[in-house]
Amino acid sequence: MSSSPSPRVFFLSPFPASAEPEETEIAASIREDDASAPALSVLDLGASRGDGIFETLGVIDGRAHGVDEHLARLVRSAAMLDLPEPHLEQWRAAMERAVASLPRTGQGSLKIVLTRGIEGSGVPTAWIVARAATSDFAERRDGIRVVTLDRGFPLDVSERAPWLLAGAKTLSYGVNMAAIREAKRRGADDALFVSSDGYALEGSTSSLIVRFGERIVTPSIDGGILPGTTQAAIYGWLETEGYRPEYAALRADALRDVDAAWFVSSVRLAAPITAIDDRPLEIDVALTAGMNAMLLGR
Ligand code: PLP
Repeated sequence: MSSSPSPRVFFLSPFPASAEPEETEIAASIREDDASAPALSVLDLGASRGDGIFETLGVIDGRAHGVDEHLARLVRSAAMLDLPEPHLEQWRAAMERAVASLPRTGQGSLKIVLTRGIEGSGVPTAWIVARAATSDFAERRDGIRVVTLDRGFPLDVSERAPWLLAGAKTLSYGVNMAAIREAKRRGADDALFVSSDGYALEGSTSSLIVRFGERIVTPSIDGGILPGTTQAAIYGWLETEGYRPEYAALRADALRDVDAAWFVSSVRLAAPITAIDDRPLEIDVALTAGMNAMLLGR
């Protein structure tokens, strides 16, 4: 662990997606605030109801990774929650400002947030927190132990109950954090959600990728899971390496036959899984190193 500068926060006065502001108007709509001072109203629905969405991007050596992919997912989540469509040019400009506030070398993150705003105002609240990493990311090398936990929804939850917002990246992450605490109580590091009808879904804050021999599989997003930007980048790379990675419904009982598995996400990157429930797993050292080298260097 290393000490790092305090987080920086940038508020946006959101434009409607149809607006065509001048560059100067965009610049004027983004203001840096003091991250250690109170800045958010207690009446903001993001704070009082978790009613909003977010994205977390990795920043490496002064460059945010997967900006287009994260913005596309922000737009998708906004549509799922009936939030105003984000103005992409404004978000890009704000992300550039936020990235520029971080050290030019090393790893960090941007958390971009859009809430339904102050109750009754009809105006969304939007901000970005930029922070330098405090982790040494040892899990990319040493791996993590995972336990399967029931998510309580069937695989077809998105069609059956779209109002549960499965697969949107909402601010309501209390459940995901509770799953990590439960995993820790069970002696593991993280949780792998399983649908009530027995399909492996995703980690509490990551996508799952598994390998059976030469076959690489990730659960398909029909199961109400988040479409992972890191998983997609890894799939692109695997194709250039001659694999034919697949999206499939993955039975949780089939996990006993996997030869290797990973939790992948934007800041942690690829963490090999060293145990699923009581079953130990070998780390695929070469593929893990390949994935992380590509993710760090892209
Ligand atoms: N699934 C969940 C539930 C997540 O919270 C995340 C990331 O936060 C992911 C998957 C991985 O997404 P990404 O690779 O875009 O970070």
